[in-house]
Amino acid sequence: MGHKPTYQELAQRVKQLEEELSLSRSEKNNRKLIDSESRYKALSEAAHEGIFITENGICIEANQAGCNLFGYSITEIIGMHALSIFTDETKDIVLHNIKNEVTDSYEAVGVRKDGSLFNAEIRGQNYNYQGRNVRIAAIRDITEQKTAETALKESEAKFREVVENAGDGILLGNLNGEIIDANHGFLKMTGFDRDEIVGQHISKIFDPKVIKERPLRFDLLNKGQSIIIERDIVGKNKELIPIEMNSKRPHANYYLSIIRDLRERKKAEKDLKKTNIELRQAKEKAEESDRLKSAFLANMSHEIRTPMNGILGFSELLKDENCDVKSRNEYINVIIESGMQLLNIINDVLEISRIETGQIKVEHREFLVNKAINDIASFFQQIVKENHNTLVLDIPENTDQLVLKSDESKLKQVLTNLINNALKFTLNGKVTVGYSIKDGFVQFYVKDTGIGIPDDFMNKIFDRFRQVEYNDQIKQSGTGLGLSICQKLIELMSGEIWVTTEKDKGSTFYFTLPIL
Ligand code: ADP
Repeated sequence: MGHKPTYQELAQRVKQLEEELSLSRSEKNNRKLIDSESRYKALSEAAHEGIFITENGICIEANQAGCNLFGYSITEIIGMHALSIFTDETKDIVLHNIKNEVTDSYEAVGVRKDGSLFNAEIRGQNYNYQGRNVRIAAIRDITEQKTAETALKESEAKFREVVENAGDGILLGNLNGEIIDANHGFLKMTGFDRDEIVGQHISKIFDPKVIKERPLRFDLLNKGQSIIIERDIVGKNKELIPIEMNSKRPHANYYLSIIRDLRERKKAEKDLKKTNIELRQAKEKAEESDRLKSAFLANMSHEIRTPMNGILGFSELLKDENCDVKSRNEYINVIIESGMQLLNIINDVLEISRIETGQIKVEHREFLVNKAINDIASFFQQIVKENHNTLVLDIPENTDQLVLKSDESKLKQVLTNLINNALKFTLNGKVTVGYSIKDGFVQFYVKDTGIGIPDDFMNKIFDRFRQVEYNDQIKQSGTGLGLSICQKLIELMSGEIWVTTEKDKGSTFYFTLPIL
């Protein structure tokens, strides 16, 4: 495309023409005039804009581009009124501008011969031509430009909508680092109003200490790098919000930061960590319980085999007809003791499984506390002697008629277990059984002067199958179920059980039962 003459150039040319015309009265100038006119025509024809010369609104001249623009031939267009080629809605402005000889450009809607419309940009200027007031108007079709502008506006609006509705926070900053715009996502995340944040320096949304330690890298942004940082920003209510900020300088005049709220992610990570820990603990517990069960089975087979061997071995000896009465009685005693031992083990195992399957029911009946304790004490007198221990009762005064409404047999079962343990782990010592009356409950205790319980075992002592692993000098017997059974029974009776101990000095087991 060749050079498109501007309106000014054309106007200049017309002026020149005018001068030449006024000079051309004389015959000798006629030639020059003709040349000049044809030159003007050529110039005007070359223009891409439609050029019209009007007088009193009537078209007296037009170039080819002007004819093409409206779809008329030159002969059709000459003589037409300017108002007939614009829509009714825009006629007024055209008329007004012609009348007032307005020189600023303005817009109207042109009507082509075929009735189709286009957006026209019009710029006119009046000239005095041989005493006649003519107006030269240049008209351009700006439909495409308009469409492009509308499309741009629409796309800008769409873009703004996307930005506003983005889940992430979006900040625009100028070259001084001041925030010039913040989207809804950012305001929602931080709790700020738009005017509280626009105009502030970007560093304002961070803790000043953090900014001092790790400054924002505008230097790198200016070099065209994108920067992603993970830090806390400070919300309106001073809450620290963990974020990931992705910044760049997409344009010479501004910085852009996209800010992602990491609170949810951090929380999910924390929850996941917690779940993992819980899973690991559960797994460890399962493994531990598996290990304990194996240990229990090994222990049980040993515990069962010993009395079984006793029973079978001594029964075999009994078969001997020559066996004297003394030996026979001795053998029978061993068989009975072994049988009892076996029964105890079986009872323990049955008891714990009945407790765990919820088959044990507590029966609340009134009974005299002191009588129950005395029953147990007399049961143990013999065993205590064999053990070289003493058994002492510690019963408060004036309690002969103290009545508890609870499960007497379970209380006795617990006391029996605790006294058995106390005797088992005490040699040449003392076992004290007693109680004290507290506010609303009775607190029983079984105290021994035995070996005590190692510290690291204290928190597992009531677990099933647990036994302290002593060195070889102390031989452990039992199933590791006794205390676990005690704890469950006490809980069933709405009480609590605990223990205090001192190494080599002894242990005291306490438990409570409510006075109903
Ligand atoms: P077990 O039937 O094996 O005795 P328990 O549950 O009654 O099982 O006891 C668990 C473990 O607690 C015992 O093996 C022992 O190591 C420890 N223990 C219980 N009572 C006492 C006590 N009075 N003195 C020292 N250790 C004790």
